[in-house]
Amino acid sequence: MVSWVILGSFIDGEIVKREDTPRIKILNPADTREEISIFSGASLDDVKRAIDSAYEAFNKWSGVPPHERSKILFRAANIIEQELEDFAKLLTREEGKTLRESKVEVERAIGILRFYAGIAPKVGGKTLPSQFPNTMVLTVREPLGVISVITPWNFPIAIPAWKIAPALITGNTAVFKPSSLTPTIAMKFVDALYRAGLPKGVLNMVVGSGSSIGDELIVNKKISAVSFTGSTEVGLNIHRKAGDLDRFLRIQLELGGKNALVVAEDADLGEAVDIAVRGGFGLTGQACSATSRVLVHSSKYDAFVRALSERASKIRVGNGLRDDVDMGPLVSLDAKRKVKRYIDIGISEGAKLVYGGSPLEEDEYRYGYFFQPTVFAECTKDMRIFREEIFGPVICVTPYRSLDEAIELTNSVDYGLVAGIVSRDMSKIIRFIEKAEAGVIRVNMPTVGMEYQVPYGGFKLSGNDLHKEQGEEAIDFYTRVKAAYIRY
Ligand code: NAP
Repeated sequence: MVSWVILGSFIDGEIVKREDTPRIKILNPADTREEISIFSGASLDDVKRAIDSAYEAFNKWSGVPPHERSKILFRAANIIEQELEDFAKLLTREEGKTLRESKVEVERAIGILRFYAGIAPKVGGKTLPSQFPNTMVLTVREPLGVISVITPWNFPIAIPAWKIAPALITGNTAVFKPSSLTPTIAMKFVDALYRAGLPKGVLNMVVGSGSSIGDELIVNKKISAVSFTGSTEVGLNIHRKAGDLDRFLRIQLELGGKNALVVAEDADLGEAVDIAVRGGFGLTGQACSATSRVLVHSSKYDAFVRALSERASKIRVGNGLRDDVDMGPLVSLDAKRKVKRYIDIGISEGAKLVYGGSPLEEDEYRYGYFFQPTVFAECTKDMRIFREEIFGPVICVTPYRSLDEAIELTNSVDYGLVAGIVSRDMSKIIRFIEKAEAGVIRVNMPTVGMEYQVPYGGFKLSGNDLHKEQGEEAIDFYTRVKAAYIRY
């Protein structure tokens, strides 16, 4: 069944289709018999035209008062809210997460649009005293120009929203490249902004694989900044590419994670298991902030592993559109193969597979990319399953004896996105907040589930951490500060 078909990129206010570029067919990951859409990929020329269009639109858009820019975002938020059910269903059918998870994501995108629409008229500079008489010093914030926005598939509406909204309200224009796994919901988001009154050229969307069109979005001289969210591997490539240019390119890199949840000696077992399940198996484990490691005090370790496996066995896996399903499929066949590869690696490394570990392929699962929630115990810090991002419903459990050891294990990987602790002991909590090397610390709550008013970004290989995303802090990335000295 072909249910919602849009073919092409969106350039200078028009949908652009080509005959001579690869077709990108989007299938429902829960049931690959359902075709969601077919896109004709953008050519390199299309990308250049999209950049030119954003470049030309910049002068006019940056001169529009922020109050007017803000009205467009408010209207787009209202449109999406009125069509929330449609947005959420499309998101589930394209990406696979459950309808409940999709609604949370769409609501978050709406909240993000309103948050940045609300602060648009407040973005300004400051006045400073001068050491000279009759002199005033002030700073102003200016937009940068054309922003490349490159996003992953796992939050295919919320992440574009949290980049595009602060970019546009500050007067920038943008070229947006969504993941080629989820361009349909991305297109619906862009469409809502245009229906809300966005002038043509202010936001252009190009569809295609990063390997075919990604370079131009970094190296083109008309690009002033790149905001990228995705894997550490691609992020490092962009970092290197930007470093080779004969100009300074502002880049924001939000990358992978291998997030640990520490279960302290005093933790309530039921609460800790609940937090681990929501963080590790929610969103099918396909979140940068997912709990992929649980470090459990040795006094609670055996009971925790038993209880976690028991809870994993009760998770209902299936098509996310169904009310009775807790966990949807993985996004693609590649993702399913990757998770299976890591299961084999874990077993060969000597970790103990205590629950799951297999793709689900029989009966109702036959046409989807389903995988069992999986629990590994006896994981050690030298194992690849402990150190590398699996990006699926796999939790590795490791025992520890002291808080110092738990902190050392938390910090022993290359990533530093989110770290969590379950405890009511304030001294343990504060020590963990101080010592854990992560951009976000979560106490007595799952590692997933950030709020848009709070700055977000990782340390170490989880991000370049020059500028935060979300919150008022996001404005820093999309603006530059100019100082003016005025003698009167
Ligand atoms: P990915 O493979 O790195 O792709 C991310 C985006 O980059 C996609 O649009 C991709 O396009 C594009 N891309 C690929 N190669 C490129 C190149 N050479 N130049 C420019 N763009 C290129 O990541 P993903 O699989 O979509 O997403 C999962 C990853 O994102 C995980 O590692 C996850 O942890 C991370 N993530 C991080 C955060 C955070 O805030 N820190 C949030 C969400 C996800 P195509 O895929 O279309 O080729």
